[in-house]
Amino acid sequence: MDALNLNERVELVSSRIKQALMRCGRTEEEVNVIAVTKYGSIENMKEVLEHIRHVGESRWQDAQEKWERLGNNGTWHFIGHLQTNKVKDVLGKFEYIHSMDRISLAQEIEKKAAQLGITVKCFLQVNVSGEATKQGMAPDQVMAFAETLRKFKQIQVMGLMTMAPHETRPEDARPVFKALRQLRDEINARGIFDYAVPHLSMGMSNDFEIAIEEGSTWIRLGSAIVGK
Ligand SMILES: *Cc1c(COP(=O)(O)O)cnc(C)c1O
Repeated sequence: MDALNLNERVELVSSRIKQALMRCGRTEEEVNVIAVTKYGSIENMKEVLEHIRHVGESRWQDAQEKWERLGNNGTWHFIGHLQTNKVKDVLGKFEYIHSMDRISLAQEIEKKAAQLGITVKCFLQVNVSGEATKQGMAPDQVMAFAETLRKFKQIQVMGLMTMAPHETRPEDARPVFKALRQLRDEINARGIFDYAVPHLSMGMSNDFEIAIEEGSTWIRLGSAIVGK
């Protein structure tokens, strides 16, 4: 894997995406790739941005220098646990936040976004697998949480996000992805929001093909693109 250069890794990933899409009869426009650049340098991110327009970072402390150099390039996704006191740093820079997981965070985003006059696109992070080390709300909290978010006018709920357990066979992630899709479908079936909630942010380097088969619309790829 690491013997490949960036070009070759991007090529390899796109052909694997195409094959997964073919297996389940979906089309390319339905799946977006976020290149997770958290493992790489500024130079590395610059190179990545020539191939992929969506980039993901998981800690503001690590992203800040990259943002200062490259922030006017591409679309930035915040994918890591977001501390409330970092909201002021990331809002207005990261167009998407994939880790909305608690009311206190929603309140802070609502307040700061109102000051900036912006709407923030968020994914509700769900800990489907129930692992203690994983962030996110429990699946049985999702509907109540979504109901609460209805009154947050600066927050647009794009979809749900999860991380499957890693260090396992990719196939083991399938029930996790399926459960996330069902939760999204339930939000829409109940008409919780007056808009559709179309997206599923799921699938990483180890399991993105399974995630695509289960309906992912945003896959987040770190090592498969950037290398280790
Ligand atoms: C690091 C990270 C990724 C990418 O992980 P890989 O396994 O390297 O693809 C995706 N999503 C989140 C939330 C991450 O923290």
